[in-house]
Amino acid sequence: MTPFFKKIPSLPLACFLLLCQSFLVSAQSTQPTSSVELDFTAAEAFLELCQTDTPQPSQIYDLLELPAYTQLFVYLKNNWGKQYNKDLYQKMLLACFLPEQYPLQPEHKKHQWIWRYFQKMKNNKAQIAPYIHMVRTHLNTNTVMQRLLAYLPQKPKPRAIPIYFLLGIKQGSASAAGVFIDNFQPTTPANIKKYLEPWIAHEVHHFFRADYNHLAESCFDRQPKLCQALYWLETEGIAERVGALAYDLEHYLHQNPKQASRYMPFVPTMKKFQNQLWNYTQNPTNAQSLIDLLQPKQGPNLYHEIGHKMAFLIEKQLGREQLLLCLGKPKQFFLQYQYAATAYAKPDAYPYCSPVQLASIKKFLNDF
Ligand SMILES: [Zn+2]
Repeated sequence: MTPFFKKIPSLPLACFLLLCQSFLVSAQSTQPTSSVELDFTAAEAFLELCQTDTPQPSQIYDLLELPAYTQLFVYLKNNWGKQYNKDLYQKMLLACFLPEQYPLQPEHKKHQWIWRYFQKMKNNKAQIAPYIHMVRTHLNTNTVMQRLLAYLPQKPKPRAIPIYFLLGIKQGSASAAGVFIDNFQPTTPANIKKYLEPWIAHEVHHFFRADYNHLAESCFDRQPKLCQALYWLETEGIAERVGALAYDLEHYLHQNPKQASRYMPFVPTMKKFQNQLWNYTQNPTNAQSLIDLLQPKQGPNLYHEIGHKMAFLIEKQLGREQLLLCLGKPKQFFLQYQYAATAYAKPDAYPYCSPVQLASIKKFLNDF
C-alpha cells in the first residue's frame, strides 16, 4: 500500500548486486525486459520456526538476517520510524516463540500488535504452506508486468524486482530494494488473479515511480504537508489504475465498522479538499488539515480512493498519455484533474474549483 515517501536511501549492497545481475542476464538476451521475482524465503523460514518443537534464538536471529527482513528494516526506518528495527522484531519473535525465557516487556506495549500478529500466524501456521503453494502455482508474473507497463510512460530499464513474501507488516509496501507482501490467508486461484496480481502490480508501480520523481526536494522543505497530500494522491491514484483493487476500502469499512461512520465519499471529500487547499493558498498557516482530511488518525486512508477517481477522470477525459505525463508530478496531477473535471462539467460527480480558486492555487503551486 505505501510507497517510499521519505527520501530514498542510497541503494543497499544487496540491491546493487541484484541490479548488476539483472543487467548481466539482460545483456545476454536480445530483448531485455524487467521482471518480478517471487521470494518466499522469509515466509518459509518463519514456517520452519513454527514447526520446530524447541526453537532456538539463533533461528530467529537467522530469520531476521534474510534479505527480505534486511530490506524491510531499511524501509521501516525510513517510513515508519527508527523504532521499527531488527531489535524490536527480534524481541517480538523471541516473546512469541520462547515466551518463558524472553517474556514481553511493558515498554513494548505500543508495538504489541507485531507480537499479536506473529502469535496469530504461529497459531494458524497450517495456512502458510498452502498459501505459498497456491501463489507459486497460480500467480502469473507476466500478467503483473503487463498490467503495470501499461501505466508507465516508457519501457523501464531492465531490472529484476524482488517480491518478498514475509510476515510482520500486515500489508504491502514498496521500497527502492523491492516489494514486501504480507498476506497469509486462505486464498483461491480466482482471488490470486483478482486481488494478488493487481496488488503486486500496484506495489511494483511504486517501485518504478521512483524513476519519474520530478517533485523538487525543496517543495518538501517549504510545504511539507501540502506536498505530502499532493504526492500521495498522485502516487496512489495512478497506481490504483494499475491494480484498482489494491486498497479494498469496502473490505476495510466492513472490518472496521466503528470507522465506517467517519468515512466521507469522494464528492464531499474532494469539495472539502479543494476548498481547504484554496484557503491555504490565501492564508498558508496550517496544511495539516489537508492530511487529516485524506488520512485521518481514525478512519480509512482516502488517498487511494480519491487519487483513483482523479486518475480515472484524467484518463477518461484527456487520455492515458496525459495521465502518464503526470507520473511523478503531483502538482500536474492535481491541475490535470481540474482541467478534466471542468471539461467534464458534472460537478456532482467530479467537483472542480472555480476559475478564481484555480488561478490562485495554480499561482501558489507554481512558486515551488
Ligand atoms: Zn500504494
